[in-house]
Amino acid sequence: MRIRRAVLDAIRAHALRDSPRECCGLLIGTGSEVVEAVATTNVAADPLRRFDVSPVEHLAAIRRCRAGRGADQPVAAVMGVYHSHLHGGPEPSPTDVEQAFEEFLYVIAGPVDVGEAMEVRGYRLRAGRLEPAELVVF
Ligand SMILES: [Zn+2]
Repeated sequence: MRIRRAVLDAIRAHALRDSPRECCGLLIGTGSEVVEAVATTNVAADPLRRFDVSPVEHLAAIRRCRAGRGADQPVAAVMGVYHSHLHGGPEPSPTDVEQAFEEFLYVIAGPVDVGEAMEVRGYRLRAGRLEPAELVVF
């Protein structure tokens, strides 16, 4: 999976900005490339420990992708979701696995409370587990 450097930078900045709450957002791209990170509101009841992307903002992002399609342009779509872990590393929690579904790319940033040492990693759901997906920066 290729991912723009600007996307990684945006995810890191969002994670720091929303700390100590978990940040979350959507990944926009063309299937094999992530070209944009869209910050969304975390509407989870306990945003210090969980995340839920605002459904209204999720629908808005889908509509924006559809509206932006040109005849000769690659098809951009919501292809994944990102979120942060305040104290933990960028490994999926049991809740992350429960919430995951096929075809989406899951990007996790953490731990946020160490600042510069924060890591960003990608995963995909395979056979009920979130398996690492290599992120190639471009
Ligand atoms: Zn998580």
